[in-house]
Order: sequence, then structure tokens, then C-alpha cells
Amino acid sequence: MMRDGAGVLIVISGPSGAGKSTVIRELLSAEKRFEKPLFFSVSSTTRAPRAGEKDGVHYHFVSRADFETLIERDGFLEYAEYAGHCYGTPRAPVEQYLAEGGCALLDIEVRGAMQVKSRRPDAVLVFLMPPSWEELEKRLRGRQSEPEEKIVRRLAIAHEEFNYIGDYDYVVFNDSVEKAAQQIEAVIRAERCRVARQLLWSGVRTP
Ligand code: ADP
Ligand code: 5GP
Repeated sequence: MMRDGAGVLIVISGPSGAGKSTVIRELLSAEKRFEKPLFFSVSSTTRAPRAGEKDGVHYHFVSRADFETLIERDGFLEYAEYAGHCYGTPRAPVEQYLAEGGCALLDIEVRGAMQVKSRRPDAVLVFLMPPSWEELEKRLRGRQSEPEEKIVRRLAIAHEEFNYIGDYDYVVFNDSVEKAAQQIEAVIRAERCRVARQLLWSGVRTP
């Protein structure tokens, strides 16, 4: 039997267009290689859905009033404003999943990641890095999900986000989606082996 250890909270950040959603999708599709299913935390946001985005799958799309109610009820593990919209991680599903010893994945921006780090010091922070600035611009524009002024705003935010790299535990370059997903898989496997995490869960069992 696999000795899983306590749950692993993986935070994935990186500039818009770096490929976070794509790499997470790849990881989830490789789920059968993991001993326990991965849980992707579906965030709440006040931004409008993009073409093809489904409520409850990609995000919970909510009004600003509903978002504020959730803040008042302490419903978020973390929340932040990004490019004029609010984004937050619903607390209950993540906490429940971790308590069961699972692995929860959060795709969140840097200020939210810092809140998670201070509230859950066991969280593992991964910064997904585009191969170059030119490639980041190309991916962001190629996605065709935002008008030009919003792309410019997201690129400006990216400059600020790079200042937080020193607060992260791992940097993974997204040259190839498959390789980046494999590296995050390796991080999850290594983190599960940590003595501290095993002790927290059930004590290190000797044979
Ligand atoms: P993010 O979630 O970080 O904003 P996305 O996952 O939406 O980024 O990716 C942005 C764009 O870049 C998408 O069109 C996606 O298909 C593309 N992309 C992601 N990873 C790669 C990669 N390794 N090589 C080429 N294109 C990529
Ligand atoms: P997008 O609008 O491209 O889906 O997301 C914009 C940014 O918001 C990305 O950096 C993404 O990681 C971040 N984000 C998504 N959900 C959350 C969340 O729940 N909390 C925080 N803090 N950021 C989030």
C-alpha cells in the first residue's frame, strides 16, 4: 500500500498566458498515474466567462455583491483583485479534500498565493514561467480571449508578478506542456515523501 502522507496543497501562479490552465489540464488528464485523485479548486470570479468557459467547471461566475457576501461569510481561503475583477478560492472544498489526504491544485495569482502561504505554511508554491517574454506575448495574443488593451494590462501585471518569484518553492518552465506537467507531478511526488508531512498524517510507519 502506498504511504501517502497528509494532503498536499499545490499553488500554481505565473503570468497570464504562461499556460497555467493548459498545464493543469494536462496534469488532470494524467491523473491515473497518481495514487489519489487530484482536486482542481474551481475559483469564484466576477469576470465574465470567455467563449467556451462553463460555470462551475472553469470558474463559479458570480456578481460582485455575491462575491462580497462570500468574503463576509469567510468563505474564501484567499481572494484578490486582478485586472479589475475579483477572484477567490472557496475555502470548504479545499480544506475537506486536504483533510482526506488528497492533493488540491490552485491556479491563483501572486497576492492570493501569498495569503495561502501565510495561512497554510504547508502549501507548496510553484511559479510557472513562460520560456521568454516574446513567447508570453505570443501566447496571450494567440489565445484571443481579451481585447488588446486588456492584453497590455495583463503584460504589465506580469512584470510585477515576477517580483514574487523568491517567495515560491519551485519554478517550472513551460516550454512543453507535457514536460511542465511532468515536473509538477515530480514536485507532488517529492512533497508527499516529506517526513514532516508523513508525521502530520499518521507518523512515519516503520516496516
Ligand atoms: P494561463 O492559464 O496561464 O493564462 P493558458 O493555459 O490559457 O494560460 O495558455 C495561454 C495560451 O498559450 C493558450 O492558447 C495555450 O493553448 C497556449 N500554451 C500553453 N502552453 C503552451 C506551450 N507549452 N506551448 C505553446 N503554447 C502553449
Ligand atoms: P483569468 O482571468 O486569466 O482566468 O485569471 C487571471 C488571474 O487570476 C490568473 O493569474 C489566475 O491565476 C488568477 N486567479 C484565478 N482564480 C483565482 C483565485 O481564486 N484567487 C486568486 N487570487 N487569483 C485567481
